[in-house]
Amino acid sequence: MLFRQLFDAESSTYTYLLAGRAGGEAVLIDPVQGQTPLYLQLIEELGLKLVIAIDTHTHADHITALGDLRSATACITLMGERTRAECVSAQFRDGETLGCDGVRLRALYTPGHTDESFSLVGEDRVFTGDVLLIRGTGRTDFQNGDPRDSYDSIFNKLLHLPDETLVYPAHDYRGCTVSTIDEERRCNPRLQVRSVEEYVQLMNGLRLPSPKLMDVAVPANLRCGRAA
Ligand code: FE
Repeated sequence: MLFRQLFDAESSTYTYLLAGRAGGEAVLIDPVQGQTPLYLQLIEELGLKLVIAIDTHTHADHITALGDLRSATACITLMGERTRAECVSAQFRDGETLGCDGVRLRALYTPGHTDESFSLVGEDRVFTGDVLLIRGTGRTDFQNGDPRDSYDSIFNKLLHLPDETLVYPAHDYRGCTVSTIDEERRCNPRLQVRSVEEYVQLMNGLRLPSPKLMDVAVPANLRCGRAA
């Protein structure tokens, strides 16, 4: 499999490029608008054909490249069925298989950070969006986030994946690039709770500032990043 982890320094976002082989069809997960030229160049250099661009959820901290990529490559754009972004080509449901020649991803509904967040499960890895981060979990205090949903998504869905499953989140603010389910279960400080109540209390006590770009990014992302 061809796999690239790309980083947007401004928003600390990871974007993932997957393809079955060089010269084959490709999928991009959580692309950032400002990095579109980089993606297009890389896709061309590797001889890939971008067929699908996916957002795991409506991001509040950067503008999505979904609209621009669709214009540039005629790829289809996908988000989960609960999204309010009506601009996407299609929406996927829990349990649905997404992908292209050489890439298969199972959509796993994992609300909590937002009520429309999905994770994408591949053969040996999972793309967790902002639900499960490396040694952290995504905030639950806006965009219909809910700490109980986050707990349920993490403890009753993601942590049921095989221990060795690689965890690739949509962000990291310290420079960690990948983890595993087992590592997060043992070492993620947010997951060392004894009950859902304890987790809810922990998440509700975070009092984080709003993302700088939130008022711009959310409305823009409901239009797939295109101008109003
Ligand atoms: Fe997010």
